Amino acid sequence: MLEIRDLHAFYGESHILHGVSLDVRKGEVVTLLGRNGAGKTTTMRSIMGIVGKRTGSIRLGGTELVGLPSNRIAKLGIGYVPEGRRVFPGMSVRDNLEVASFAPKPVRSDLLDRVLTLFPQLRAKSSDRAWRLSGGQQQMLAIARALMSRPKLLLLDEPSLGLAPIVVKQIFQTLRELARSGMTIFLVEQNAYHALKLAHRGYVMVTGNITMSGSGRELLENPQVRAAY
Ligand code: ATP
Repeated sequence: MLEIRDLHAFYGESHILHGVSLDVRKGEVVTLLGRNGAGKTTTMRSIMGIVGKRTGSIRLGGTELVGLPSNRIAKLGIGYVPEGRRVFPGMSVRDNLEVASFAPKPVRSDLLDRVLTLFPQLRAKSSDRAWRLSGGQQQMLAIARALMSRPKLLLLDEPSLGLAPIVVKQIFQTLRELARSGMTIFLVEQNAYHALKLAHRGYVMVTGNITMSGSGRELLENPQVRAAY
C-alpha cells in the first residue's frame, strides 16, 4: 500500500532523511521507532507533502506522492493524526468530526455513529467543546477525526505522547481493534513496547537512516532495541 524508496528530506539547508526505504502492506500495522530528533515526524510529513523538499519515491497504492501538493495527497485516502493532536479547540466534538468528512449527509451520519461506537468516551462528550477534553480524549478525537475521511491508510505520529500509562493502554487497545477490522496503520512511536506489541513489523530510525527492521516480536526481543528504546 505504501512504498517508500530512497527518500531524502530537507528543511532549508538541513538534510534530515538520508535515503529511507520502507513498506507498509495492506492490512499491516507497521511502526517506526527512534529517539527524539531521529526523523520520524519528518518521515510522516514527507508522506503528507509538508516538508521543505523531498526526493526519492513515495508510492501509495501505485500513485507517486513526491511532487504532489499536500491537499492532493490528503484526498488520496490517507488519514493523518499529527503529533500534538491539533483538534479544533473551540468546536464541539461532533463538529470536529463532521468537518473532516466530505461524504453526503446520510453517509456522514453513519460514519459518525461508527466512529463514536469505537470511542464511547467521545460519544458521551459529543456536545462538549474539544478544549474541555482530557489529553487522552483529545488524542481519541484526533484519531476519530482521521477516520471520518474513510482512509485506506492511517498515519499516527506518537499517539502516546504525554499521556498517562492507563490512557496509553486504552489508545493502543483501540488501535488493535482498528487493525483487526482491517485498517492499515503506519505508526511513529517512542513507546517501543506498546508499538511493537501491536505491530506486525517495525523499523528503527537513527539520524535519518533506517538501521534495523524486523517483525514486531523480533524487535521486541532484540537486546539492542530493548536497551535503546
Ligand atoms: P520528535 O519525537 O522529537 O518529533 P522525530 O524523530 O520525529 O523526533 P523530527 O521531528 O523528524 O524527529 O526531526 C528530525 C530533525 O529535523 C531534528 O534534528 C529536528 O531538529 C529537525 N527539524 C524538524 N523540523 C524542522 C524544521 N521545521 N526546520 C528545521 N529543522 C527541523
